[in-house]
Amino acid sequence: MIDTHAHIKPLSASPDLPLTGETNKIDGLEWVVLSGSNLEDSKANVELAKSNQKLLAAVGIHPQETNFNLQTSILELEELLKNNKKIVAVGECGLDFSSEYSRETQEQIFRGQIELAIKYDNPLIVHSRKASDETIAILNEYKCRGVIHCYTGGVKRIKKVPESFYFGIDGNLTYEDGLVEVVKNIPKDRLVLETDSPYLTPIPHRGETNYPEYIRFTYVKVAEIWGMSFEETEKIIDGNAKRLFEI
Ligand SMILES: [Zn+2]
Repeated sequence: MIDTHAHIKPLSASPDLPLTGETNKIDGLEWVVLSGSNLEDSKANVELAKSNQKLLAAVGIHPQETNFNLQTSILELEELLKNNKKIVAVGECGLDFSSEYSRETQEQIFRGQIELAIKYDNPLIVHSRKASDETIAILNEYKCRGVIHCYTGGVKRIKKVPESFYFGIDGNLTYEDGLVEVVKNIPKDRLVLETDSPYLTPIPHRGETNYPEYIRFTYVKVAEIWGMSFEETEKIIDGNAKRLFEI
């Protein structure tokens, strides 16, 4: 199993993310991709990836992150990309219109990161909330690839997402019936699973902190939806994740 999207921080950095490189509950997993939300935790991801073989870093600036300088932050991300081989993706980046934060600035920092991903031949981890059509339109302007993290575009937008993108599905699949229909419609060779831990905890741990190892419950749910064995399902999904991140 591969958790393609987790947030893990060193214990001292943030009390609300109580995970460390040592005790991050990744048993049974082959890889865990650490998503970056800002420069600080992108740098922390790079360090965590050095500390544990199973951890892989992504570096990026989340659209709800407001504390950055448009020009220097792209340069800083580029420095990280140049100097670290264990970075497997740029992100998470994208558009989030659930916040009141300037759409124009969100778009500028998103485009900056798309261009970086293209330049360094990395996939993008795309965050899109209440902005599905706008996000898809921007991605279609470029020759880029990656994953739409925590896909919320519904069945009707699946075909509009560029074919070079995978669909990331999270633990809320275990309790949101609408997502079952979405999973049925996503091509099997473009589905990857993610925890977004410490958020979006699946049943039977809903309401608790999420951990990468809880990805198992989402694999079980997909196996049930596909009508396949756990092993067959795991093989397909992990194959997708490996192609996506070239791991
Ligand atoms: Zn995330």
